[in-house]
Amino acid sequence: MENERRKYMSGNGIVVVGSSNTDMIVKMERIPRPGETVLGGAFSTAAGGKGANQAVAAARAGGDVIFVARVGDDLFGSEALAGFERDGIDVSRVVRDPDAPSGVALIFVDANGENSIAVASGANANVSPADVASASDVIAGAGILLMQLEIPIPAVYTAAKTAKANGVRVILNPAPAQPLGDDLLQCVSILTPNETETELLTGIAVTGDDSARRAAGVLHAKGVGTVLITLGARGVFVSDDEFEGIVPGFRVDAVDTTAAGDVFNGALATALAEGVALIEAVGFANAAAALSVTKLGAQPSAPERNDIERFMEEAGDES
Ligand code: ADP
Repeated sequence: MENERRKYMSGNGIVVVGSSNTDMIVKMERIPRPGETVLGGAFSTAAGGKGANQAVAAARAGGDVIFVARVGDDLFGSEALAGFERDGIDVSRVVRDPDAPSGVALIFVDANGENSIAVASGANANVSPADVASASDVIAGAGILLMQLEIPIPAVYTAAKTAKANGVRVILNPAPAQPLGDDLLQCVSILTPNETETELLTGIAVTGDDSARRAAGVLHAKGVGTVLITLGARGVFVSDDEFEGIVPGFRVDAVDTTAAGDVFNGALATALAEGVALIEAVGFANAAAALSVTKLGAQPSAPERNDIERFMEEAGDES
């Protein structure tokens, strides 16, 4: 069934190029200082990595997803691939790296929910323009190319240029924050920075509508058509030719905001690939992301399509 679905992907599929990690999480009273050992933490593992999180979020939201990535030829890599397949993601373009281990994030979470994270990129650091070139057929035939910045920038450039040359819309979630060249931004149809990333890219601190408008203006001047500044629980500041203003978020009891941005981007890609108008797509993505913050973990918290639609109906009934 899943294979059948994939075969017919033409023009509305989503290609995600990005990272995959295994998150190894220790919950503890407090985060150890250098040289210190702290006992008594509960340990868990969860699938993570921004690329993989967004691919899974898009697939659960109902999208046809092809993931372009690298994992190691090790147990974590096998488990990650098995997880993607359970979500119906096409993994034929995920390379098993013979030389590098799968990416790992070591995460300490203290009693207040504050965290401290060390990432060993492993195979993610080897994602290359050649990997992207060997996926150029699927990128050229996609409806949406979705990327983040946890893999080497040359691979991101190559994919963005291939998409632009073929008239494929590019969503770039510029996270983790880093400066970007205008030649990359000119290939981006929709940029989705959070407030921190917006400040790094524009030099403007987002403190309200006026500063958000000015920051979006800087990004438009660099060649980005649509700017979506995510504002946490407040929702998203949208700026393009047709609309400027906030699309509000949904009210929920937040348990863990890890991967809220990833779920937002994945669900946004799915809605846009289906041909939904931008403002509606942002509403759908806000709903998916709000649901994700009510659950622990990165990929475990990405909601299924049915749950997103039910949540939106219930929220509509209340308002
Ligand atoms: P990031 O996780 O990348 O820092 P944000 O914190 O801006 O990004 O969150 C991304 C999106 O997730 C928001 O635009 C919103 O739709 C949703 N979101 C995040 N936090 C909450 C929250 N506490 N309540 C409801 N929605 C949230």
